[in-house]
Amino acid sequence: MYILEKAPAKINLTLDVLYKRPDQYHEIEMIMTTVDLADRLEFFLLQEDKVEVVSENRFVPNDERNLAYRAAKLLKERFQISLGVKIKIDKQIPVAAGLAGGSSDAAATFRGLNRLWQLNLSIEELANLGAEVGSDVSFCVYNSTALAKGRGETIVELPAPPKCWVVLAKPVQGVSTQSVYQSLLLDDLDHPDTKGMVDAIKQSDYQGVCNRLKNVLESVTLPKNPEVEQIKEQMLRSGADAVLMSGSGPTVFGLVQQESRADRIYNSLRGFCEEVYVVRLLGTHQTLD
Ligand code: ATP
Repeated sequence: MYILEKAPAKINLTLDVLYKRPDQYHEIEMIMTTVDLADRLEFFLLQEDKVEVVSENRFVPNDERNLAYRAAKLLKERFQISLGVKIKIDKQIPVAAGLAGGSSDAAATFRGLNRLWQLNLSIEELANLGAEVGSDVSFCVYNSTALAKGRGETIVELPAPPKCWVVLAKPVQGVSTQSVYQSLLLDDLDHPDTKGMVDAIKQSDYQGVCNRLKNVLESVTLPKNPEVEQIKEQMLRSGADAVLMSGSGPTVFGLVQQESRADRIYNSLRGFCEEVYVVRLLGTHQTLD
């Protein structure tokens, strides 16, 4: 018996850091949504008590460092499951890119094993377990559009943003999320208008969404990675309505409504950026096609 799950990438429409908490975590507020660029995970039922992860991507660990592996182990331990699973990850989302690839794989594992092992857990229960694996995992379990607060584990679901095309471009050099947060100067931040973004999404106001794209982590990643700024400028020159770095970077995305314009941006970037994608913004739960 086996089950398939899609694990879509996420982008940040806003990312704000409010303060550092006594437990040393940052209190954050961010609006995230999903795009049609997804890993595909296959779950094969094993009769023996074992979790195995297989991926052909050399940047994806296949042991306990893999977030999908950790999600499976957590479910096994918490619910005393004696069955096992082999998880095959077909990696399409660039690794260490600010697109939550690992978190989305963990979330897909929670959803997939909930079916494979017939656990009958609700999405809320799976999202709470997700928070134990990583701060973006709860959002990825919902797999839609949401405002995330706290460390990222408090989720308020939102409607899908207005339909548009998303051009994603990832510079070669990956970025460590932890080191970006460590270098962030909290006193000096230009904060996003999170409430305004929530309203724009609820009103399906495309221009309002474009006007409010903002990510405070750009203040760390941009000065250290000039390529990120160059890609942003190139996207705007070739007709993007708005551009932003996702998560801690370095992936940059541009929003456009016409497909022809998305293609023009794609073509203008291909010379100096190896990984460029044109995808649809999803923003709602997707079934596997
Ligand atoms: P985020 O936006 O949540 O910070 P990211 O997109 O920047 O995440 P990931 O692609 O999740 O970063 O990868 C970060 C690191 O996590 C990688 O260097 C990799 O070693 C590790 N990792 C663990 N599990 C996975 C997985 N299933 N897929 C990709 N990377 C994984």
